[in-house]
Amino acid sequence: QEAEPGELVVSGLTVRFAGLTALDDVDFTVAPGSVHAIIGPNGAGKSTCFNVLSGVYRASGGSVRFGGAELTSLPPHRIAALGVARTFQNIALSRHQTAEDNLMLGRHRLTRAGFASAGLRTPWARREDARHRARVREIARFVGVDEHLAAPAGTLPYGVQKRLELARALAMEPRLLLLDEPVAGMNGGERRRMAEVIARARADLGLSILLVEHDMGMVMRLADEVTVLDFGKRIAGGEPERVQRDPAVIRAYLGA
Ligand code: ADP
Ligand code: MG
Repeated sequence: QEAEPGELVVSGLTVRFAGLTALDDVDFTVAPGSVHAIIGPNGAGKSTCFNVLSGVYRASGGSVRFGGAELTSLPPHRIAALGVARTFQNIALSRHQTAEDNLMLGRHRLTRAGFASAGLRTPWARREDARHRARVREIARFVGVDEHLAAPAGTLPYGVQKRLELARALAMEPRLLLLDEPVAGMNGGERRRMAEVIARARADLGLSILLVEHDMGMVMRLADEVTVLDFGKRIAGGEPERVQRDPAVIRAYLGA
């Protein structure tokens, strides 16, 4: 059937490591412009799923289609070029570079010659650099890190670093955002702030968002749809309220 832009269709996704099936025949779809949450106990295969979607791990079987393109055989930079951006469970910023330079790195896929190598020698390179910097500042305002742009990323408070990572992903102008535990380790205020930014990324930018999250309050508030994994298998899925009451989900979380 005809693929919609921004739609992610995962079918029969299987990932095997030596002696372990981390994902076992998993199906789910992320509708364009929706927030889809993947939840499940530790070791369920959530990060593995993200690593396959972003090209870090190879699938052992199944398919991942994004807006009609098959992603499973593509390297990370090709997947990024198709409009899929991600954040990591553990912060992966360039600590000694400024927040602004971290965001400029996020724009890399959009630059033709590469503004760094161009060295701003030509008027064209200077104009391009100014254009990208202006956009990066706009995105920084959008996520609320604009007053931190000049600081080395590693010196910023944890909550700000997490939002900076989200900003870096947004700097790639993606259509699909993969967020791996965006509020892990945050306090209540930081959580609310991040949740508000994610909600606006969907509402104002029209992004499709796939979210791995442990905080059930966040999932209930943000997600249109939920997929539940346990030991690599999809054990439930659907609307958040219904999934939360699903006996199989309750059993998985209680370890019964
Ligand atoms: P989650 O993010 O849901 O906590 P993961 O996707 O990180 O779970 O892990 C799922 C399972 O796959 C775990 O048993 C984990 O130890 C295993 N696993 C993840 N990555 C690798 C790897 N690179 N090599 C071997 N096993 C891995
Ligand atoms: Mg994980």
